[in-house]
Amino acid sequence: MHELKSVKIVATLGPASSSREVIRELALAGVDVFRLNMSHGTQADQAARYELIREIEYELERPIGVLADLQGPKIRCGVFANGPHDLPVGATFTLDSDDAPGSASRVRLPHPEILDTLKEGATVLVNDGKIRLRVTGTRDGAVDTVVEVGGAISDRKGINLPDVTLPLTALTEKDIKDLEFACELGVDWIALSFVQRAEDVEEAKQRIDGRAGVMVKVEKPAAVNNFDAILEATDAVMVARGDLGVEMQVSELPPIQKKLINACRAVGKPVIVATQMLESMITSPVPTRAEVSDVAGAIYDGADAVMLSAESAAGDFPIEAVKTMDQVARRVERDPVYRSLMEASRTSDKTSIATAIAAAAREVAETTEIRAICCFTQSGSTGMLASRERPRVPLIALTPLISTARRLTLFWGIRSAIVDPVERFKLAVVSAVRVTRSLGITEENDRIVVTAGVPFNQPGSTNILRVALANERAIFEGEPG
Ligand code: PGA
Ligand code: MN
Repeated sequence: MHELKSVKIVATLGPASSSREVIRELALAGVDVFRLNMSHGTQADQAARYELIREIEYELERPIGVLADLQGPKIRCGVFANGPHDLPVGATFTLDSDDAPGSASRVRLPHPEILDTLKEGATVLVNDGKIRLRVTGTRDGAVDTVVEVGGAISDRKGINLPDVTLPLTALTEKDIKDLEFACELGVDWIALSFVQRAEDVEEAKQRIDGRAGVMVKVEKPAAVNNFDAILEATDAVMVARGDLGVEMQVSELPPIQKKLINACRAVGKPVIVATQMLESMITSPVPTRAEVSDVAGAIYDGADAVMLSAESAAGDFPIEAVKTMDQVARRVERDPVYRSLMEASRTSDKTSIATAIAAAAREVAETTEIRAICCFTQSGSTGMLASRERPRVPLIALTPLISTARRLTLFWGIRSAIVDPVERFKLAVVSAVRVTRSLGITEENDRIVVTAGVPFNQPGSTNILRVALANERAIFEGEPG
């Protein structure tokens, strides 16, 4: 049995990771949530990956989360006829509205209205800001530029235009179609790109209508400025450092990362740190020291999850990248400094019975010989409160709803198990014992904490805490402790 780890790993699937074999290896290496990036590939590609994930989930008998990441109003260039091109400094390069595949001297920019707004002198950033082009002249339906900072350009690379205010809606037509597609597929989370205001979240939420959790990617200065309202509206947050670091000074990223993590933790909403975490592992089997330190840093900051993008989607070493994250997470989790940081930064209010019980469960588990906290949860909200406490012992969410179990895969520390609906607290304890025994967390005479809400099967009603003996006898006789 794999030792439980608390920090979650999100891995993006792509051409390097679409076979059953690789997806299975990634799951075994420690992936908790797979990300389907709707910016790349077809709906059929994503559906095939989704089906494989579900088959593997069934085989591994462990809920796996699926996150569909909508492209949002991201500007991307078109495709190229002959693979990637190196744009050297001083070269001229044209962006136009021609359908033909690109070359070393031009590529399509599939947004005519944007070509019209670009003026001489404007900056065009390509591929996460790696390439900088300066507009030298405009023609009808085309913009000529000179390369100021060179680099490789290839199919559908992202384009940022920091000098131009773009009249873009929160959900494009493609997003609306992808959102519906992803919800029908059965994904657990939907991520919204380039969110600027809380209203953007509300709009998506109405369309999703509870079929998936809503995640906001913070990658625009506007999202940082409006974060309080956005956090209130969303279910989860991604610190999307790629675009954020293009649209703002990169030196702004570390304080923003810490600020967003703290704000999310205070309200118990899960937060992912994303992008370039192990970038060099796209082509190298080992990470740089700085990357290892970055992953660890995000974990010490208190993130629920760390994420791989191209490393797992298109890199040469997707499994090694997950193993690296897994190792770093486990090492940080063993560090007493990490424990004390998590404890010092705990901000749980006890404004409801459910929050007070979550805090009490953690306190009981800390002061006595407790092997696990098992919480019964319907909607997942009790799981969320338990996760926010960052307890020292394994946290097991027991739910009759597979959708809840899957959604909770993103939350720090939670391992979910599907259990039959129970009507009596006694039976709840029996199933908690059974799950902890089968996960290898408890042995005869070990104690666990069980929380539940009576009457059962009502969301948000947690009102019981019990310390129980995880004994075989309990399973057979239904009378533990
Ligand atoms: P992306 O989002 O990978 O969809 O661009 C993440 C980021 O911008 O960091
Ligand atoms: Mn982005």
